[in-house]
Amino acid sequence: MMRLFLLLLICMLSVSSLVAGNREKMSEESFTLSNFTDEERNSVSCPTRGLFDSSGLYVADLSRYTSKDWSYPLRGGKVISPFGGSRKNHQGIDIKTYESDTIYAVFSGRVRFSKPFFGYGNAVVIRHYNGMETLYSHNRNNLVNYGDYVHAGQPIAIIGRTGRATTEHCHFEVRINGRPYNPDLFFDCSCHRLRPVKVIVSSSGKIKIIRLSPKQDTIQSPQKIGRDN
Ligand SMILES: [Zn+2]
Repeated sequence: MMRLFLLLLICMLSVSSLVAGNREKMSEESFTLSNFTDEERNSVSCPTRGLFDSSGLYVADLSRYTSKDWSYPLRGGKVISPFGGSRKNHQGIDIKTYESDTIYAVFSGRVRFSKPFFGYGNAVVIRHYNGMETLYSHNRNNLVNYGDYVHAGQPIAIIGRTGRATTEHCHFEVRINGRPYNPDLFFDCSCHRLRPVKVIVSSSGKIKIIRLSPKQDTIQSPQKIGRDN
């Protein structure tokens, strides 16, 4: 009888841990960061395999993010050149702070690229668990290597002017399936906040942004800005 009771208890415990494990997995936007192909290792921009669901859509809900889930890339930074802009083909934004400032990962994920790349100079590309990719370039030096797992707010590079750059700054891009989108759609760059939006992108590249209310009032970047304060 005792043995039967113990067996029953073990069964119940394993079922509940299985359920808890599943719940944990479902609670994050778990995009698989599988082994990267040669193209992914060697190019800053390439499509993301398995990004779209069966109806051909990519969806990310940034309104669910709390302060520990994201970071502004350069705390205290000012945008000195917008997306598109007069240069038309500017695929990101240029953010300037001060010499040798630290650049932070905006979301958690895995480093897909970390080395010099033509005019980008020293570049870091992170593929995030939410399926987006972010790029940080012209770095004096990169602090992370290919394949590293990084968390939101982790230092990943030191600002510089390597590659085609006339001043020390960070060229920052947000890409979805390899296409660049205006980072200002996701980040309010004037007050360094993550926008509480749902992002929907079709496989053709069309993007729809739905404004939502932030789930928590902790959506502002958690860490105080360094020397600029
Ligand atoms: Zn730029």
